Amino acid sequence: MSKKVFFVISLIFIFCVPMSVVNAGEAVQAVVDKVVAAYGGSKLVNLKTITINSDEFSRWEGQGYYPGTDQPVFHKQILTLNPAELIGKNQVRFTSAGVDYNYGDVVSGDKSTNLSYSYGTYSENDEGGYYGALGPYIRGIDTLLAYELHRRKDTAKLLDPVNYRGQAHHQISFEFPESPPLILSVDERTGLINKMTRIIENTEYNLAYQYDNHVVTDGITYATQYAFINTNQLQTMVIDRSIEVNRAGKQDFAVDKFLVKAAEQMPVSEEPQQTRLADDYYHITVDDRNSSFIDAGDHIISIGSTAGFGDRWNVFKNIVPNKSLKYHVVTHHHSDHLEGIEDAFDAGAILVVPDTVVASVEALFEIKPADGKIMSISEMTRLGPVDIHLFSSNHAEKNAILYAREAKTLFQADHYGGEHIGAPSPASLNTVYLKQTIDALDLDLDYLVGPHSRKVHRWQDFVAAVNAYNNDCPESRAICQ
Ligand SMILES: [Zn+2]
Repeated sequence: MSKKVFFVISLIFIFCVPMSVVNAGEAVQAVVDKVVAAYGGSKLVNLKTITINSDEFSRWEGQGYYPGTDQPVFHKQILTLNPAELIGKNQVRFTSAGVDYNYGDVVSGDKSTNLSYSYGTYSENDEGGYYGALGPYIRGIDTLLAYELHRRKDTAKLLDPVNYRGQAHHQISFEFPESPPLILSVDERTGLINKMTRIIENTEYNLAYQYDNHVVTDGITYATQYAFINTNQLQTMVIDRSIEVNRAGKQDFAVDKFLVKAAEQMPVSEEPQQTRLADDYYHITVDDRNSSFIDAGDHIISIGSTAGFGDRWNVFKNIVPNKSLKYHVVTHHHSDHLEGIEDAFDAGAILVVPDTVVASVEALFEIKPADGKIMSISEMTRLGPVDIHLFSSNHAEKNAILYAREAKTLFQADHYGGEHIGAPSPASLNTVYLKQTIDALDLDLDYLVGPHSRKVHRWQDFVAAVNAYNNDCPESRAICQ
């Protein structure tokens, strides 16, 4: 190669390739600047605190279909952030099917504390932190996306422009912690973020976030309407939003004074555990999941069909060998309580199922179980030493509970639980309903157990928890007003 040719090629290199990189960098910077300007300029960049009050409808089917659960539920949310220092407090309150949910988080950096206003307690959370616990909420607020885009502008990339709602939009992606990159659609004229998408690789999920009706308060711009669309289905719709800028004080990021530290919970057992509550009653734990087995003389009755039932049956068979599993009682229709049913069926059990749950159980099997292998029940059913009662609550239309008469023990799912050490586990509204049911049936009880806890709850602790149940929302909390 002649020196002259080399010189020319070098010139092309110097003037073309680096120029295009510089231009791309400038183009990204121009879009970031446009967004920052649209959301308040230096006021946004120097934001000390921001409080976002949202009224929204959310749709959640829960763990299985139950009439009413696909109705939109009205939520109130208050999110207070100091974004520069990664400090935040989130509070959520909603009522679904008659149950009041009242909870929150306080986060600082990578630490977070769960707040349970319903239980009156707080507890440290090993996972979470600013982006882990609050990321899903932050992504729903365009102002905070503008802030994060500015913070992480070094990771920003321009994608092909798009037309959205008839207007030309830039598309700019940037890295957001604990999430796939976020892709913002920015109106070329106004600099406002009108849409964000997240693509979760190797899944069918396609998440779209839409921001609408932008207004300005104290120099900061935000959308008063927001919709979250999960794979073409509307999931959350904010119908009203207001913000407060630079007004939060230290107390607004604190754990509320009236909450007390929750009692510590039993660690997950590495080894299978067995608790014998009476001559005929065994509660078996493997990997933090539990079933009860009742020795009915020449056969066994079981209940509790979360995943891994077969492992618990195997542990039990080593304790009481050579007896067949004749009946397995299914508590309710929620998916996490159906996962172990096939194991029980394969062990030979007749499935004892509330009539409203039979269709959910049958749907688990590729080949429909033979006649007689599913016993549909619609009223109290006595199986030797145990009585199966049915009752309605906000949790399910029909819940089966098992009362072992000799053991004076009740097995129930999802109405009372917790593995708190040295203190009664707290009650929920459903615990109150369970207590009313027990009282109406006039059951004589010493113990309560369930599928989600290996703790054996003493009757007097259960009664104390129900008596202590208090779901008042004090006026002193803004979310209660
Ligand atoms: Zn459930």
